[in-house]
Amino acid sequence: MKHDLPNGVMLNAYPDSLDGDLAGTVRMLQRAELADVFSLFYILPTVFNSDLDRGFSVIDYDLNAELVAPSDLEALEQLGVLLKFDLVLNHLSVGSPQFQDMLANGDQSEFADFFIDWNQFWEGEGELHEDGYVVPSPEHLDQLFMRKPGLPILAVRFPDGSDRFYWNTFYQQVDIVDGERTYLGQMDLNAQSEKVWDFYRETLQNLAGFGATVLRLDAFAYLHKEVGQSNFFNTPGTWDYLNRLRSIAEECGLILLPEIHSEYGTGLHEELSDQDYPIYDFFLPGLVIDAIDTGKSAALLRWIGEIVERDLKTVNMLGCHDGIPVIDLKGGDVAGGGLVDDATIEAVIERLLERGGRVKNLYGPDGTKISYYQVNATFFSALGESESRLRLARAIQLFMPGTPQVWYLDLFAGANDIEAADRGGSGGHKEINRTNLTAADIEAGLKRSVVLDQLEMMRLRNTSPAFSGELTVLDTEPHRLSLRWVSGETHATLEADLEAETFAITHVEAGDTTVLTYG
Ligand code: BGC
Repeated sequence: MKHDLPNGVMLNAYPDSLDGDLAGTVRMLQRAELADVFSLFYILPTVFNSDLDRGFSVIDYDLNAELVAPSDLEALEQLGVLLKFDLVLNHLSVGSPQFQDMLANGDQSEFADFFIDWNQFWEGEGELHEDGYVVPSPEHLDQLFMRKPGLPILAVRFPDGSDRFYWNTFYQQVDIVDGERTYLGQMDLNAQSEKVWDFYRETLQNLAGFGATVLRLDAFAYLHKEVGQSNFFNTPGTWDYLNRLRSIAEECGLILLPEIHSEYGTGLHEELSDQDYPIYDFFLPGLVIDAIDTGKSAALLRWIGEIVERDLKTVNMLGCHDGIPVIDLKGGDVAGGGLVDDATIEAVIERLLERGGRVKNLYGPDGTKISYYQVNATFFSALGESESRLRLARAIQLFMPGTPQVWYLDLFAGANDIEAADRGGSGGHKEINRTNLTAADIEAGLKRSVVLDQLEMMRLRNTSPAFSGELTVLDTEPHRLSLRWVSGETHATLEADLEAETFAITHVEAGDTTVLTYG
């Protein structure tokens, strides 16, 4: 059986994105303008105690008391809003009690095998560098999938004075002031240790206790590590881990949503779905931008066809806390079964850069660029800051099969924050799309038609039974897109003209017809 996700509209924000803290967000959601708009809320992991990467470096899974109170979670429950949280399963912060215990007690720590000792892992499989770490032999190095230039290690000093190297796929920082070392980093967990699994179980139980319904498995494909593999979605190890986690999740009543960015052509999204996991639709953002910019619906229709035919259960989005995914669209030319050809992806990237976006690439161990990864921009800026395009993009998203997730800043038609991206330095591109909104910003936003119009469409998507029914893709000319949802006597139809950038939504329920048009 496929694990169905709840079918309403999902808000996505940090606990402090809207009016200071989660209580501020609750205040917003209690307003009349927001009534019946959202059924779910994906709260990003600064909801927990964390110290880097805006939440994705978890210290512990207790609620972050500066931003969140248990009463906020109760208020969300009263509003009928279900919760989605992250399990950042690949890593924990240097500041976690487990890593701190290891730093204090070295090899005697009960957490000595909780993280991955790089040199132990590669023992006998490479050369010792003069700085003390193993450089895996070229046949291993060539296979490794990396997120940053250089080896993914953080050097830490043990109490016996020895330097130890720990696997660190994502961010890291070592500061040495007056001989004192301080570390920051997301330290990869050693899933071969049963202690790590005890920790996952305890965490899932805690998160279920906070009222979670859906659990996003952050960057899960990096968890399984084995000499001689790419260490990104190793098989069959990754499946074993996923299935083990799923059985714990089922005990806790949680739905797992694995998060992975990989090329469409690898078909990993289909493999996950074949194993009955809901998946992220990271293809939609780029396809929507392409459809609106070129005035053609063909690529979008190919993707909708696949979702329907293969019965993919998706969470889709326009923007999110990360960049606009582009590596995901890769898959060779269309004749060969790809969604879009490489030239189309390059053209999307180029336009987004012209509109003020920044590109994030992937690098090999020697620092050479391997591929582009995402473009960092707000979705509104990615669409050339046109309100009518944003309305059209939202309408398309809401008529897509899947659970629509809505980034708060897109709802408020936020533009690129170039200064924040500059302040963030080389790793700070994502700040371009993470501007916090004050109570006054929200107040002003809720007077703008682009915001109110999106809310109206979202309310329809969230409440109409039509969207629990069947989707039909109507035959149209190549510059049009026409999608109809029908459940019994209720139906909702989107008729869009991508060239003219106009659309109408017709909703019929119990004989009453409502037509939504804007602009
Ligand atoms: C999250 C990122 C984060 C990374 C490391 C990702 O997949 O979406 O925001 O930097 O995982 O946890």
